[in-house]
Amino acid sequence: MAHALLSASSADRWLHCPASVRLTEGMADKGSSYAAEGTLAHAMAEEDLRAFMEARDPDFSRHCQQPYFYRGMEEDIKLYTDYVKETFLAGAEELAIEQRLDFSEYVPGGFGTGDAVILSQGAVEIIDLKFGKGVPVSPIKNPQLMLYGLGAYLANDWLFDIDTVRMTIVQPRLDFLDTYEVSAGMLTEWARETVTPQAKLAYAGKGDLQAGSWCRWCKIKNTCRARASQHLEFYQSKSAGPELNTAEIADVLAQVDAIKAWLADIETGATETLTAGGEIPGWKLVEGRSNRKITDPEAMAEALKKVYAAEEIYKPQELKTLTALEKLVGKKAFASDYGQYVTKPPGKPTLAPESDKRPALNSPENEFTFE
Ligand code: SF4
Repeated sequence: MAHALLSASSADRWLHCPASVRLTEGMADKGSSYAAEGTLAHAMAEEDLRAFMEARDPDFSRHCQQPYFYRGMEEDIKLYTDYVKETFLAGAEELAIEQRLDFSEYVPGGFGTGDAVILSQGAVEIIDLKFGKGVPVSPIKNPQLMLYGLGAYLANDWLFDIDTVRMTIVQPRLDFLDTYEVSAGMLTEWARETVTPQAKLAYAGKGDLQAGSWCRWCKIKNTCRARASQHLEFYQSKSAGPELNTAEIADVLAQVDAIKAWLADIETGATETLTAGGEIPGWKLVEGRSNRKITDPEAMAEALKKVYAAEEIYKPQELKTLTALEKLVGKKAFASDYGQYVTKPPGKPTLAPESDKRPALNSPENEFTFE
């Protein structure tokens, strides 16, 4: 599949750090098992929606042969495909699946692929499937979705006279669905005022190196000097005295996740360099801890049974994990048929920023008290 230099999926990065584009151009994309699983989920969702449009049953037989296929995957894409079908059936005029969306009018060579584009008079809705199960991805002011929305608007305004652009993210494995809506006027103003100037800088290989959460997807995230400087120099002491005050601790806490991620990337990058035969002064690879393994459990059990009773060598039968059982039964059926056997004890007190949606443990909203 062709990729634009300034793609919608990398927009968060090039809008914030335009210089990263030419700096990383041509570097190999390492890919990941998550990406491969996501690609398979998208292919299955596409098959499901095409079958729906052609009034036939979906055929997942070729997908079942893929390495990242698992039992229940069809069920996991349903929240997305059901939402697309319902939105289309609620009076829309056209549904386009995996449509190329061109926004090169505002971004040099810019295009992306819309998972589902639903058109009706006056409105277009982009529906994006995210298959990750880490954290929910919000569509609110999400530049990837806004560029898809821009492409869908530009392609269809002549026919559907579009004044409203909706952008929806469905993340089935987190039961997450959210929509962001803007006027076509606001979207094109954003494209003109914010996107085009940064895109021109990025295309020309100019602009600043600006580190932030978008570094996570950058090909030089392990070695970038701007990112290192941001984390090593972020703390400027505000007051004298041998101990940090609580305001300073709050500042440090706000950086904990980003610093941990950067340190983990430094370790990963150094390990990769040494594995590939490179050198990191003062560092080497050694054999890590490993556990002994039984090579042939059945043969070992047979040998043991000649001397010991079965109950002495076998563990008592035990249930699989909750996650494995839920996967076996299906989420809804598991909740209705076996939910009575499941409880969720209160979690242990955990630090969170004030902006976290959960109420504070010692707030009136939360009756739970702890010593
Ligand atoms: S790691 Fe971050 S700061 Fe460095 S080039 Fe990439 S996006 Fe820019």
